[in-house]
Amino acid sequence: MLKKLFFCLAAISIAFFGLTGLMQANQPQIAVLLYHHLIPEADNTAFSDNGLVMSVELFARQMEYLYKNQYHTVTSSELRSFLYEKKALPPKSVMITFDDGYMSNYTFAYPILKQYGFKAVLFAITGSVQTKDQEYHPDQLDMISWMQVAAGSDIFEFASHTHALHTPVNGKTGLVSVTPDEAQADLILSQKRINNRKLFAYPLGQYNTRVVDMLRNNGVDMAFTINKGYVNQNSNPLLLNRVTVYASCDIKTFESVVTCKYKYR
Ligand SMILES: [Zn+2]
Repeated sequence: MLKKLFFCLAAISIAFFGLTGLMQANQPQIAVLLYHHLIPEADNTAFSDNGLVMSVELFARQMEYLYKNQYHTVTSSELRSFLYEKKALPPKSVMITFDDGYMSNYTFAYPILKQYGFKAVLFAITGSVQTKDQEYHPDQLDMISWMQVAAGSDIFEFASHTHALHTPVNGKTGLVSVTPDEAQADLILSQKRINNRKLFAYPLGQYNTRVVDMLRNNGVDMAFTINKGYVNQNSNPLLLNRVTVYASCDIKTFESVVTCKYKYR
């Protein structure tokens, strides 16, 4: 009798945990893509060893893939509803983000995104946004100007990537190493300059409990890391995963990422 009961319980627990696993596998999730600087293939001599610098041509092919496969690029307000109100996202949703605020995001990515009617979020280091449009220097990291921020705002939502706390010292960004008062003053200034309180991206993906609390206390309701993986409705809105898209990301890999099939360890 006891033996029978044991087997019965074992069967129930396998059924239960099996089902839980299945539910987790089927729960809606979305890839939040992260791009940085873009450069035309023919101009790329200075950054050919930098895996974060993507060719304009590959970026164009990836966007064409999304368009041809009828992807929807979600806005921050759609992601907010997904996370906070548990609202569904349209099928085949993906989110596009850019970090740092390179001029190339405006000169090269903006027209491609516009062509397909896509939206993206651009996290700018507001202290590095230029007061005048920069000349194009293929060998330099030119930063976006405030005029370009204004002109690009039909496609990009601009948000803070700190004002001046991005640069690491001994491997740690200013955001996680300055005093709490300094970090808060920097955030408030950055939010004001970029006119967006709600979104934030952690420089180099570095954060700690104090920084997360400080963001929450200053109106941020979604903050993005560079932790690998997808976003689902159980994700912590202040510690959202993103998928860094590297220069080596071919279309096959890209497809597995946007379909959330790429397995992260
Ligand atoms: Zn950055």
